[in-house]
Amino acid sequence: MLKVFPWQESQWREIMSRLQQDRLPHALLLTGPAGIGLTHFSNCLSAKLLCQRTVANDFACGECGPCILFQAGTQPDHIRVEAEEKGKQIKIDQIRSLIGTLYLSSQAGGYKIAVIDPADSMNRNAANSLLKTLEEPPADSLIILISHQPSSLLVTVRSRCQRLNFPPSNDALTLNWLEQTTQTEPAHLHELLVIAQGAPLKAIALLDTDTLAHQQTLLQDLIELSKNKLDPIKLAEKWQGFGTVEVFQYLLIVFFNMAKLKLTGTGKITNNPDITVYLQELVNRLDLAQLFACYDQTLKNYQAVTGPFNLNKQGLLEDIIIYWQSILYK
Ligand SMILES: [Zn+2]
Repeated sequence: MLKVFPWQESQWREIMSRLQQDRLPHALLLTGPAGIGLTHFSNCLSAKLLCQRTVANDFACGECGPCILFQAGTQPDHIRVEAEEKGKQIKIDQIRSLIGTLYLSSQAGGYKIAVIDPADSMNRNAANSLLKTLEEPPADSLIILISHQPSSLLVTVRSRCQRLNFPPSNDALTLNWLEQTTQTEPAHLHELLVIAQGAPLKAIALLDTDTLAHQQTLLQDLIELSKNKLDPIKLAEKWQGFGTVEVFQYLLIVFFNMAKLKLTGTGKITNNPDITVYLQELVNRLDLAQLFACYDQTLKNYQAVTGPFNLNKQGLLEDIIIYWQSILYK
C-alpha cells in the first residue's frame, strides 16, 4: 500500500471526501515547505486514482496491475514533468508534450494524471501554455502542481487550481514517526526537526549528513571562544564550510536554549554531557540580557543571509563571532 505520511492525513481525508462526492478538482496545487513530502502525497493520490482494487478511503493496494506499473515508474497514465536538470527551468516544449499526452485516452480507461514538480520552475511561456488546459481540462484528468514557493507561480495558474496546503509539522505524531523510521534518539530528532523548520524529510536528510558532527564542533568552538581569543576570519571560514544558513539556524537554537536555561533552569542544548557542563558554565557567567542580545544579533544576521540581497556570508559569520567575543570579554 502506498500510504501518506502521518502528518498528511487530514489533507488525504479532505481529498478522499471530495472523491467520494465526485467533486475532485481537475487541478490541484500542493504547497508546503521542501521536505514535507509533497511528491510522496502526489504519488499516493495518483496511485490511488489508478489502482483497480481500492475502495472508499483506502490507499492504493500496491498489488494490482496499475499499481505494479506505478511502482516500477512505467505507469503510462501517470506523467511527470520535472526540470531537465536540478535548479533549471521547465520549458514550454515539456508542457506541450505533457498536454498532448494528457489528451490521449487513458490506457486503462480510467484517470490520466499529470504532475508538474516543482511547478514554480516553469518559465513564463511554459506556465502560459498550461493555462488553457487548466481551464478546460480533458475528462477524467487530474493535473497536480507541486510547489514549495507558490508565490512565485503566475497568479493566473494559481487561481485555476484547488490549493491543498501542508504546514510544517513538529507534533508528537511526527516525532514518533521519525523515531520509528530512523531509530534515533527523540532528543536529537527534536533538535533536527527544529533546524529543518518542521519538514520531517529534511530532518532525516540532516541526519544523513554531517549535521550532528558540525553542531558539536560549533558548540565546541563557542566554548573555545570563551577561553581563548580565536581568529574570527579563520573560524568564519571553517563555519562557512558547514553551510552559512545552517550555522545561523543552529546558533539561533543554541542562544535561544541558553536563554531559556538561564530563565527557567530547564532545557537541553546537546546530549553530549561534556559540552553540557561547559555550556552551563557559560549560562551562569552571562546574564539574560546578554544571551538575548546574542540571539537578536544572530537573528539579524540570519535574516541578512536569507534575505534578497546577496550579502557577504563570511562577513556576517565573522560579525557574529566578534559579537560573541565582545560579550564574553566585556
Ligand atoms: Zn492497486
